[in-house]
Amino acid sequence: MASLPATATAPTYEELQAVVVSLREELARATAAPSTLAAGASRAGTGAEVLARARAQTSMSAEVVDWNPYSRLMALQRMGVVTDYERIRTLTVAVVGVGGVGSVAAEMLTRCGIGKLLLFDYDTVELANMNRLFFRPDQAGMTKTSAAAATLAVINPDVAIDAHHYNITAPDKFDDFLDALQSGGLAGQAVDLVLSCVDNFEARMAINQACNELGQDWMESGVSENAVSGHIQLMIPGRSACFACAPPLIVARKGDERELKREGVCAASLPTTMGIVAGLLVQNVLKFLLGFGQPTYYLGYNALSDFFPSMVLRPNPGCDNSACRARQADWAAHIAAHPEDDTQLGAPPPPPPAVAPQSTENAWGIVIECDEGEEERSQPTAGGDAELVPGVRPAYNPDAPPTNDALAPRVDAADLDLDALRAQLANM
Ligand SMILES: [Zn+2]
Repeated sequence: MASLPATATAPTYEELQAVVVSLREELARATAAPSTLAAGASRAGTGAEVLARARAQTSMSAEVVDWNPYSRLMALQRMGVVTDYERIRTLTVAVVGVGGVGSVAAEMLTRCGIGKLLLFDYDTVELANMNRLFFRPDQAGMTKTSAAAATLAVINPDVAIDAHHYNITAPDKFDDFLDALQSGGLAGQAVDLVLSCVDNFEARMAINQACNELGQDWMESGVSENAVSGHIQLMIPGRSACFACAPPLIVARKGDERELKREGVCAASLPTTMGIVAGLLVQNVLKFLLGFGQPTYYLGYNALSDFFPSMVLRPNPGCDNSACRARQADWAAHIAAHPEDDTQLGAPPPPPPAVAPQSTENAWGIVIECDEGEEERSQPTAGGDAELVPGVRPAYNPDAPPTNDALAPRVDAADLDLDALRAQLANM
């Protein structure tokens, strides 16, 4: 139990604030413990039983009654949209970064009845986050993972939640991150999907490395620093482009990205854009995991023109990431034995278009971290670095003529969708 230090003088504001934060953490831990919210569990005196519903039965009921939290979801099955919606109760998704996009994505998955969530974040809730969805002012000072776990457990106590409060890019935490992805599933197996909802290049590369090493499917998401564009991308190691296959136009030089922030300047953010990107992300998660519709491999969003480009990105044979190249070799060996499996990345590829693929990949220029959230710094798609802030560099020159050098960073244009390209040209 938190307590004030035993001093003769009145406690300071900081001491009182520390006690409040500690008490909130205790409450969050107690509320988040799944066993305390099980059906019939007595929590007399805490008030929690008033807020949280009892756990449902092990199966999802399709009964159409007011008290059934799953009736509208199971209706998807009845209407023929999803063959087996209830399968979602067996699935585990890891959400890395519980900020403006990750927290909303976690809430959507919780309301959809996902079996288990793993939450990763090392940050705390701040009042400066209140222009976004999910977190509340009374949670300021709590860790994002404990605050999120507490809220999600109340929304749907059927969902198992593991909260991991650490920085996945810390050298002594990367193995913990790998272990959690490998054994964090409901039955101790690997998770079914990883969602990247982080706000910096270093964390994305750590997720990319982990997923390439493990052969783990994952989805990337991002929102630009001017708050009016974003994207999602599905990564299947060896089969679709990884994050290093087609890096952003501008990437950080080696060093601490946090040193790149400009004094007194922070990125913009909108709850609308972050909510839209989270919605696009979880929609893709549901389609991918439950097997309905056509999951997207890359979907962009430009709010100013309501432009949604979509395309398939094949892996880069010259990718800098050796684990990516190893997974590509694994997949090549697999399709040599099972050529019928090579048709799952969308429709058969059209003839290569006469458009440099790099310029489409970086239409919004995504990139470096600001100190306040999910935003990435947009940069004009200029080839030179004259306008860049210190500490960053262009990953490549989009104005350079196409090259056949297999070692050059590039996007394989084989699967670019012609309709998407026509739409892009129409919007230029
Ligand atoms: Zn790669």
